[in-house]
Amino acid sequence: MATIGELLNSRAALSPGLEALVSNGERITFLEYKQKVNQLANYLLDLQVQQGDRVAFLCKNTYAFPIIYLAAAKIGAIAVPINCRLKPAEVQYIVEDCQAKVLFYDEEFRDALELLPSCVEKVIRAAVGEEMDDHFKSIFQIASAAEPSADVTERDIATIIYTSGTTGNPKGVMCTHANVYAAGLANVNTLDLRFADRFLFVTPLFHISGMMFIINALIRGFTLVLAANFTPSQLWDLIDEEKITNMMSVPAMLPFMLQMLKTIDKDIFSLRGIICGGSRVPEQPIREFHDLGFSIIQVYGATEYSGAIAYFLPEMDLNRCHSVGKGLYLTELKILDPLTGMECPPGEIGEIVVRGDSVFAGYWNNKEETDQVLKNGWYHTKDVGKLDEEGYLYVIDRLRDMVICGGEKVFPAQVEAVIQQLDGVAEVAVIGVADPVWGELPRAYVVKAEGASLTEEEVLDHTRQNLADYKLIDVEFIAELPKNSMGKTLKYVLRAHANGTKLTNV
Ligand code: ATP
Repeated sequence: MATIGELLNSRAALSPGLEALVSNGERITFLEYKQKVNQLANYLLDLQVQQGDRVAFLCKNTYAFPIIYLAAAKIGAIAVPINCRLKPAEVQYIVEDCQAKVLFYDEEFRDALELLPSCVEKVIRAAVGEEMDDHFKSIFQIASAAEPSADVTERDIATIIYTSGTTGNPKGVMCTHANVYAAGLANVNTLDLRFADRFLFVTPLFHISGMMFIINALIRGFTLVLAANFTPSQLWDLIDEEKITNMMSVPAMLPFMLQMLKTIDKDIFSLRGIICGGSRVPEQPIREFHDLGFSIIQVYGATEYSGAIAYFLPEMDLNRCHSVGKGLYLTELKILDPLTGMECPPGEIGEIVVRGDSVFAGYWNNKEETDQVLKNGWYHTKDVGKLDEEGYLYVIDRLRDMVICGGEKVFPAQVEAVIQQLDGVAEVAVIGVADPVWGELPRAYVVKAEGASLTEEEVLDHTRQNLADYKLIDVEFIAELPKNSMGKTLKYVLRAHANGTKLTNV
């Protein structure tokens, strides 16, 4: 086991001249990376930041981000990355909840700090537009680059990352240095990541995937190319210019990437793998990319498992690409019956539970929620899925979205997929509405495509032609679905609506 600071020092000693970060035209080597991290760590010590103090940061993808993360970790403080898309009240909730002592921010997110709680003793601007703030830059001219003095152990908490709040208030997921190290080792042992690879991040670093790849890059020794304020049309230029070998993506990016890929006249053959996840990755783009000679590596992950739980890898059977592949290196997976808690045999649907050294240490200040999901070292994902005979994992839905209608389980994702086949449906979400006789009744909230003349009866008829009658009982049209900043549908808001609370409150 090693601490995050040790991972950085070790890589800087092994590969001092290798490019570590490329960001906004600047390039720094692993040796310079270590020096800058030490300088910021010493600056934090001068600010009286102590071990265990929380250092929050609201920063885009520039090299300040990993430097702040690693500097906090090096002195045993806890790094708390904040989602840059959050609104003032959401930022306030997180900063207050974790009682951050120091906060770094980029000027373009200043408005999000409108309700900053008083626990924050020092607010430091990291960037203004594309440039580093002058004061922030001066830290790297003045502060000592000597190894900061701190007594950090791998059992210490390294990060608190707030979940996206898809199912309620965001929860602060605590991961230790040991968790982060175990996850990093498992990632580099599962994925085809090579020394001196060039990994592009256009998706935000503040999610677990970004935080994890900062560590993977230290362990394996590769370059992170960071792009802030990314516009899709720049993507292939960037891949071409920087000779990118791998990149992170989310499902929403795949259609436009495909469209551009078909017309591109650039040398993008350096690109070996596109990792994609965060929510279900549809089968069609995976196959289309494959036919064009590119691999989509689907990742199923959770902040509570320090990132990836399973990967669908290029060497796996393409006919199983509707699965999320197999558990990553040294990860145990089981499926439990949500009603009896008994282990399900292959093919049966139940709750996905996972065990390994990267299972998180608990939710910050929330023992009750922690006890619900952490049992004997197993993390209960609250996702519903199944394993097949060969160990491929299929993610079907979220457990809390499962509807039990007259004792029968209904998985909304299955019903949504059928409704989505209808012309005139822009979006759909299915939830269970409380019913005194049946327990719950499945209801679909449908957003019509512009100009569509769909009726409730048409939706019901189509669903009943394809699925058992009890899987959809009624349909309601709404203007839009409530969503969080990640674009994930907030079903708890729809459930509140079904019980008479107004949707407009959210
Ligand atoms: P909260 O816990 O606050 O409700 P959240 O569950 O969205 O938020 P995250 O850690 O951001 O928290 O997301 C993890 C969840 O995202 C997983 O538990 C799973 O439901 C979903 N997910 C991630 N990757 C995939 C994937 N490839 N396929 C299907 N679902 C996925």
